[in-house]
Amino acid sequence: MDTSGLYIHIPFCRRKCAYCDFYSRAFGDHGDEYVTALLAEMDESRRFLTSKPEGRPRLTTVYFGGGTPSLLSAAQLARIFEHITQSFTLLPEAEITLEANPDDLKEDYLEALGSLPVNRLSIGIQSFIDSELAFIGRRHTAQQAIDAVRRCKEHGYDNISIDLMMALPGQTLESFDQSLSQALDLGVQHISAYLLSLEPGVPLHRSLRQGRWQEAGEELSTAMYRRLHERLTAAGYEHYEVSNFARPGFRSRHNSAYWQGRPYLGLGPSAHSFDGHGRRWNVPDLAAYLRHDFQREYDNPNPEERYNELVMTRLRCLEGICLEQLHQSFGQDLYDTCLASAQKWIKAGNMHLEGGRLVIDPDSWLVSDEIIRDLMQV
Ligand code: SF4
Repeated sequence: MDTSGLYIHIPFCRRKCAYCDFYSRAFGDHGDEYVTALLAEMDESRRFLTSKPEGRPRLTTVYFGGGTPSLLSAAQLARIFEHITQSFTLLPEAEITLEANPDDLKEDYLEALGSLPVNRLSIGIQSFIDSELAFIGRRHTAQQAIDAVRRCKEHGYDNISIDLMMALPGQTLESFDQSLSQALDLGVQHISAYLLSLEPGVPLHRSLRQGRWQEAGEELSTAMYRRLHERLTAAGYEHYEVSNFARPGFRSRHNSAYWQGRPYLGLGPSAHSFDGHGRRWNVPDLAAYLRHDFQREYDNPNPEERYNELVMTRLRCLEGICLEQLHQSFGQDLYDTCLASAQKWIKAGNMHLEGGRLVIDPDSWLVSDEIIRDLMQV
């Protein structure tokens, strides 16, 4: 096996945001205990990425996601890095991302982080409008977010990603425009933007059902997505995946590897892993995890499921599906079925064939879910 990614889940948040159903718990004083459990899982799982007993997997990316990884102290992160370098070969050019909340990125934290190999920060900002941030239960204000990004730049971080959200309660096209202007002013290298999507049970879903706010509706959501695409591409960002924009050379290498079906190891409760063939995922149970009881479920997808996954991930990316790979991996029948299903979308101008690839035009990414469903095997 060639190179792989390592994902480390930090399942803690200071307070739950009103729209979030990610697996996370109150931080409490579990930090050191949690890191000890992570290191034990790393020892136990290192070989997931290699078939050779003495093999030392080579890592091209490490991604600390959550939850809120910036709740870990620099000393706790340093323990994890020490163990990573003992267990894997961390390539010198590896992309190492830490997800962070703006209110954690204070001067002293950034100072301490400077001694670690983190070279990419992904900051959850969501909006630069205070009333929108307050409604969705974010802990920071717009000004704190702006200051945090500026501080990161002053500390030498030159690969910064921020997250924004569309279709938030009370958000208008004008207020979204303001958030975009602020994001552009900050000159970050990467922007991810997601439409608000609520799982039943999260507080924002309950308040919606109680009539305390109204959903944006399709017309407004569509207008926001179009505005996002127009403004960011006009400013020189590449719209390289449905929800992701990057300055040239600054695509997320970790997430791109997921979308290209490359192997990765995920550590921590709820983390998923893929060895190039099968998947496994850790049961989301922090209490068991802290007892080093690493409970897992497994899935070995059949060819149709693997084909569906390829359609789902590749068609959301600018490069689309490589037809040669499709043919090699799935044979003539699925290849023919895929191209036959694509014909109606090609005729309608939503898809095209280009350089041996089947691609959804970025202008049509708003209907990508419909196209992908149509091309999947049921
Ligand atoms: S900080 Fe992130 S993971 Fe935690 S509750 Fe908010 S959105 Fe969810």
